[in-house]
Parts: sequence; C-alpha cells; structure tokens
Amino acid sequence: MSQVLPLRSEVPESLTWNLKDLFSDEAAFEAGLAKVSEQTDELVAGFAGKIASLQEAADIMRLIHAYEKLLISIDRIGNYAYLSFSVDMTDDLRVSRLQKTEALIAQIASQISFVDSDLMDVNPDVMKSAAESEPAYQVFFEGIERRRRHRLHPETEKVLAALSPALELPHTVYEQAKHADMAFPDFQAGGKTWPLSFVSFENDYNLDASAEIRREAFKAFSATLRHYQNTVAALYNGEVQKQKIMAGLRGFDSVFDYLLDDQKVDRSLFDRQIDLILQELAPHMRRYARLLAKTHGLDRMTFADLKIALDAGYDPKVTVEESKRYISSGLRVLGQDYHDLVMQAYDQRWVDFASNKGKSTGGFCSSPYQLHGYILLSWTGRLSEVFTLAHELGHAAHFALNQQHQPYLATEPSLYLVEAPSTCNEMLLSQDLLSQNDDPRFQRWVLASMIQNTYFHNFVTHLLEAAYQREVYQLADQGEFLTATVLNKIKRDVLEKFWGDAVEITEGAELTWMRQPHYYMGLYSYTYSAGLTIATAASQRIRREGEPAVEDWLTALKAGGSVSPVEFARLAGIDINTDQPLRDTIAYIGSIIDQLETLSETLA
Ligand SMILES: [Zn+2]
Repeated sequence: MSQVLPLRSEVPESLTWNLKDLFSDEAAFEAGLAKVSEQTDELVAGFAGKIASLQEAADIMRLIHAYEKLLISIDRIGNYAYLSFSVDMTDDLRVSRLQKTEALIAQIASQISFVDSDLMDVNPDVMKSAAESEPAYQVFFEGIERRRRHRLHPETEKVLAALSPALELPHTVYEQAKHADMAFPDFQAGGKTWPLSFVSFENDYNLDASAEIRREAFKAFSATLRHYQNTVAALYNGEVQKQKIMAGLRGFDSVFDYLLDDQKVDRSLFDRQIDLILQELAPHMRRYARLLAKTHGLDRMTFADLKIALDAGYDPKVTVEESKRYISSGLRVLGQDYHDLVMQAYDQRWVDFASNKGKSTGGFCSSPYQLHGYILLSWTGRLSEVFTLAHELGHAAHFALNQQHQPYLATEPSLYLVEAPSTCNEMLLSQDLLSQNDDPRFQRWVLASMIQNTYFHNFVTHLLEAAYQREVYQLADQGEFLTATVLNKIKRDVLEKFWGDAVEITEGAELTWMRQPHYYMGLYSYTYSAGLTIATAASQRIRREGEPAVEDWLTALKAGGSVSPVEFARLAGIDINTDQPLRDTIAYIGSIIDQLETLSETLA
C-alpha cells in the first residue's frame, strides 16, 4: 500500500493516452475555447427570441444543426480539460484550465438554455414536419415533447434553474461530510495499529484476506459512520423530499414515474429486477457465502466477510503488452471489424495505463463525439485488470459505433442499458479464458472473478441499494419523513431478507445506506443489474449462435440513444418485456456457483 508513485512527468509516454487527438497543443485548445464562444454568439444572435415563431421545418433544422455543432465543440473542450486534469490533479495548470473551462461551459449553458425551452413553444405541426424531415433526430424531438408535458410556467422554470445549486446541496454536503469531515480512527488487529480512511476501508480492508483485519476495520469504520447518521439522514431525507415535491409539481402520479421518465422504461421493469433477484438469486448467493466461509475456514460468515476473494492466494499477473493477447482473443468472437476497432486502443493510445501521483482512482471511459474513447486505468499488473480493460473497451466501442451512425443529439443511451455493452465484454472474455486453460485453479479463479466482481457488484451490492431505495420512496410517496432509525431499519431488513441465515448481518451493516453516492442519483442503482441481464443474454446468444447473434448485437450498439431499452434489447434478439432473460441470468449465476462448489471440492 505504501508504494512510491512516480510523478506524471516521469511516466513513459507509451503508457499514457494521446490527448493530442483532441487538441494538438495549448494554442489549439485556446482556439477551441474561442470557437465555442463564437459559435455561442452566432446561435444567440441568430435565434434568441425568434424560435417560437419559426414556421418552416427547414428553419428548425438549421437551428438544431447549429445547436448541435456548438454542443460538439463544448464536448471537445470539456473532455480535454477534464481528461488532462484526471491524470494529474496536483498540477496547477491542469486545475486552473479545468476551472476556467467549467466556468465557460456553465456560462454558455445558461446563455443557450433558451433553445430547449423555446422549442417547446413551436407550433406542433412545424415540429412534426421537422422531425419527419430528418428521422435521425426523432429521439431529440421526443425528448422535447416529453419535457414539454411536464413543464412549469416559464417564470417558475427560471426560479428553479437559478436555485439549482441550492437544490443540489444534499449531494454536495454528503460528499463533503464523507471525504472532508469524517475522521476515522486507527484500529488494532494482529497486534498492529492500522490507519483507516473511507477510501482505504472500501478499497482495501473490506477485501483483506485476514478476518481479524477485515472485521476490526469494519467495526471502527461503522462506529465513525454512526456519529454522522442523523446528519446524513437529514440530507438524504432532504434529497428524497425534494424529488417527491418535483414529481408532484411536474404532474407525475408518483415519485417513481418521475425518476424513471427519462430512462424510458416503466415501473414494471424496475420492480421486476428487484422482486425476482431478491427471491430467486438469494438462494444461490447464500450458497456462495457458505462456500466462502468453508474455503476460508471461517467460524462464522459476517457481513464484513462478503467481499473476500474465494482464492486470495491465486493472483495471476499480466503486463500491458500481454493484455493485448487476452483482449484480442476474448473479443475476436465479435467479428473482425469490432476486434480491429478495439485493438486501435493500443496503437492509437486510447488508454492511460500509468500509475502516478495525483491520478484519479478507478476506471472510466469518456468518448468525445466521433473521435475515440479515452480510458483511464491504473495498471498494477493483475489479470483482473484485463476484465476492467475489456469492460471499458466495451463502452468505447459502443460509443464509437453509436457515434458513427447517429447524430450527436441521438447518441445518449438510456441509463437502463448503458452497462450492457461493457459487461457483455467481461462475459465474452471470461468464456474465452475458460476455454484456453483447463487447470482447475485457473478455472476456479475465472469463475470466482465473475461472481465476486461482475455479478456481486451489479446483482447484489447495487441491487440491494435499489431494494432499499424502493422502500424509501414508497414511504416518501405516502408522505412519511425519513430518519436514521427508519433508514437503518429498512437497510437491515433488506440485507436480512436477502442473506437469510447464511450471513450474520453484523452491527454496522444497517449503515450501508451512508456509503454510496448513488442514493443521490435517483433510481440509478437497479440499472446495473438491468444492463448485465441484457449483457448475459447477449453473450450467451453469441456463444450459442455465433454470427447472426453478433450481427444483431452490433446493430443494437449502433442504434445508440435512438431507441428505448426495450427496442435496444429487441434488436439484440432479447425480449425484456418478459422475465425470461432475467430468470436465465439468475440460473446462469447459479450454474457458476455450482461449478465453484465442485472445483473447490476437487482443490480442497
Ligand atoms: Zn461501465
């Protein structure tokens, strides 16, 4: 944990991404900023105060094209400033460049907000013929219409927009409390003293192979969370009540309909994920918890033990160079074009592999329009990181294909499916690894990785957040207020219901609702399992049927934001109007756990 990281300037260029594809140098970036300001002035001069009276479809489309061009320029400068910052957050130049860019973007956003609102006032027949004149923009017009139905009086919208920093306070204060104010005490384990922080608990101690370290860390961590439970509950209650009030103001029957509206799915799809997983996945995961306890020789299985690796002693290593072979072999099944597309990530330096001081942790992929994905990782040489890379390349390829085939304004996919292309790649990679090496320990490692990383994260951690959220919003819909006592009880009930007698829901587990920023992002948590359901179904179809299934999958990826989640899945040959894909996915998870049990018998 105490390895010394190099400075950004000391990192070999081959391990960094190439931001020159965005702007060749600082002067080009400055020119980019100037261009954005110019385009904004032109848009304002050409259309401010004039949109509502436009009578020709061609004029509407002229406006939309100019608006879209500006948004693409903003997307470029925003990405450049943020990506450059994310690899060295200690560098003053990068920090000030980001601040300057963000301030400019915020200012422009308010200058051009008239476009969206004024389009709602255009004669509906004109809007209709504009939409028909360029069907690729259909989804953009639908969005305007959807928002128009729930729009408030223009003066009220203005007040709400002006108040938005205040309305965002619960989330802002939550992050501050968590990262700036919460001070965690050192804890004792194994005769040693260990320093503790929010991040070190979540990323390290929570997964530590020593039961004593894990459990003592959990105890100390929970004790500190508890000091803040009333404050954080008040913040969270504020967030939930705000959403309920907004739902009412905008004419939604319930807060659920309000929060699901822009995901383009109805309540039944949301409920199905939660109900079916709570009932049908739970027995499989309880077996997995028992297997973990048995393999590790634990006296009891507690909530603090759930994230440990099944075989912590087995940790295959891989270099960046070697990762190429795994990615190439794992994703070849998606056809030559897809394969060649993602392999460009190496030659064209899409990925920032370096580990250096000041770099953002975790992994992400950002895809400036019609350029290529930029993927941030911190490569430490574990085979598990090849899964992360395959995942992020799934996002990069999805956006590359989607952007090749859709105008910018039709590229944003529903949250419901955004994790499908990425997790599908994880599935395909693991299937390929399993076919390459039949050493039982390696086989167990791959299968266990799928459970402890992919499925645990998406189908358990986030799903149990979603189950808790549903209870919370139901109370809010009934006019109840939420206190720490109420929230702790809901969280504990959800955990006990899922884990039954297989896991001891230790004191402190009920505070899990304080650990994730997801609760401030509406109904986001359940979408992880929704995306992975589509991914599992797609990867199995690809394995079973080969080329026709690949063709369908690529067609779905190219559709981008132009289709609803149900339609996206239909293009991929999957019917999410039924519960079959989810039932199949749960059965598949069960079959992996069967194999883990058998392999563990063999290896014991
Ligand atoms: Zn992802």
